[in-house]
Amino acid sequence: MHTPPLSIVWRCGLDVSAYLALGRHVEVGEHACPECGQNLGGWGGYWRWIRGRGTHRLWIRRGRCSSCRRSHALLPDFLLERRLDDVEVIGRALVLAIVIGHGMRKVANQVNVPMTTARGWGRRFRVRAEALTAALVAIAVHLDPAAVLLEGDGEPAAVQALGAAWQRAHRPFGARIPHVWRFWSLISGGKALGTNRSPPATRRLGAGWMAPST
Ligand SMILES: [Zn+2]
Repeated sequence: MHTPPLSIVWRCGLDVSAYLALGRHVEVGEHACPECGQNLGGWGGYWRWIRGRGTHRLWIRRGRCSSCRRSHALLPDFLLERRLDDVEVIGRALVLAIVIGHGMRKVANQVNVPMTTARGWGRRFRVRAEALTAALVAIAVHLDPAAVLLEGDGEPAAVQALGAAWQRAHRPFGARIPHVWRFWSLISGGKALGTNRSPPATRRLGAGWMAPST
């Protein structure tokens, strides 16, 4: 039976243009199979699109586990699964809409995406806000047990919870923690705006980005 492709989001130290410039030669480092822990071997890759300043084709490497034979797409942390746009653009749009309070038409103009796209992000974030907040608060408290104080609920609370989790990760881990929206992609395994309504990848807590770097 066909199983859906899995992806792993990895901490990418490159900005998007540097990643693009490498073409197929991008290095992704070593990754363990999320199913069984074996190191993944190279398994080619595929082209996909990213929209930022213009639309570009970028190479996504794949890894395959020699033990359980599943292959995984290795997404750089500036992407989310099944989203065309750079996560920083998505994040900026969400902040403009939720924190600043701009309407979606204006937001879409500000970040230069079609209005339907910006609306789609807003809607998905609204649906997921509660689960995101819970997962992000759990991460924040795992890092520092002090209570996380949120004002209000819904989407503003989710944005605040992301800020709290990021700050508490950044304190001990410093530069190993990417900027906030990449962090969001990383800790959600690229599923932060996914259709799954369960909390994002809290199982990954303590794995990957929190392990000593090699
Ligand atoms: Zn495996």
